[in-house]
Amino acid sequence: MEKTTVLITGCSSGIGLGLAVRLAADTARRFKVYATMRDLAKGERLLERLGGCCPDTLEVLQLDVTDPCSLAAAAQRVQGQRLDVLVCNAGVGLMGPLETCSDQAMKTIFDVNLFGAIRTIQAFLPAMKRRRAGRIIVSSSIGGLQGLPFNSVYCASKFAVEGLCESLAIVLRPFNIHLTLVECGPVNTSFLANLQRPDPEGSELQGLDAETRGLYHRYLRHCQSLFHDAAQEVEEVLQVFVEAIGTPCPPLRCVTTQLFAPLSRLRLASPDGSAYVRAMHDFVFGRSEAGGDQP
Ligand code: NAP
Repeated sequence: MEKTTVLITGCSSGIGLGLAVRLAADTARRFKVYATMRDLAKGERLLERLGGCCPDTLEVLQLDVTDPCSLAAAAQRVQGQRLDVLVCNAGVGLMGPLETCSDQAMKTIFDVNLFGAIRTIQAFLPAMKRRRAGRIIVSSSIGGLQGLPFNSVYCASKFAVEGLCESLAIVLRPFNIHLTLVECGPVNTSFLANLQRPDPEGSELQGLDAETRGLYHRYLRHCQSLFHDAAQEVEEVLQVFVEAIGTPCPPLRCVTTQLFAPLSRLRLASPDGSAYVRAMHDFVFGRSEAGGDQP
């Protein structure tokens, strides 16, 4: 049986690493995985998890989604092989009061999360269209569906990814190319440790008003306990990716957790947005801080 070929971005850690391992170690050897990462020196973990090289099911390639030359080289390497599934997974976070987000940090978030996904899709889409077959899976976020406090720029980048993919999916339908957004909630990876954020005790917050500083401290505590109590393990989330790869007609969106379902329903049921803003505020900061915006 011909193997399903899958190219994944951001395989040095977390979800990308887990998915590459899961597919490359498939006991029925159904997959050929191109596990890509921007820094090949980080490939050791992947090989360790697999117990060494697996030449028939795994190839590790360099790919930085912000670098068009690196993308072109990876696409060239895969050219000639049929690419069945593209997983745009590389992503970075940015947390903190908006006033503290530097231009450079905001540009990086969009360059990786949005333009990185666009560049990657652009590199592999023409061949899928010629074959009139393929799947594109994008690691998105609950933060791409609803706003989260102190994550405005990250959410903006993931909202943009949602708009990109929903629009593209319409055009890809006649080409038999399925596009799926996997909406992750908190997942136990290095994401939280890797994201850019101002040190709560550092100088970046010093020019900020005391009330916002206080809210940010409270948000950090909320975030810590949310990850502690409710973060999913990577394996649980991978199941959603594996289903999106295997099912005949995958949906446009799959959520990995029902944790935010009540808030999501509220957001849809009350389109003017104020009920959601109030509910999310209460969820994170508590009812006593609801302020003067009560009806
Ligand atoms: P992670 O462990 O930090 O993994 C992020 C991956 O993206 C790393 O391999 C990182 O590589 C890679 N990456 C960053 N910039 C890149 C670039 N320019 N080119 C190529 N790769 C790059 O976090 P994760 O949780 O697995 O995140 C994977 C995806 O899930 C992201 O899109 C994230 O937004 C999404 N997500 C995660 C969570 C969560 O709670 N973990 C929640 C919602 C959505 P380096 O090692 O080189 O930095």
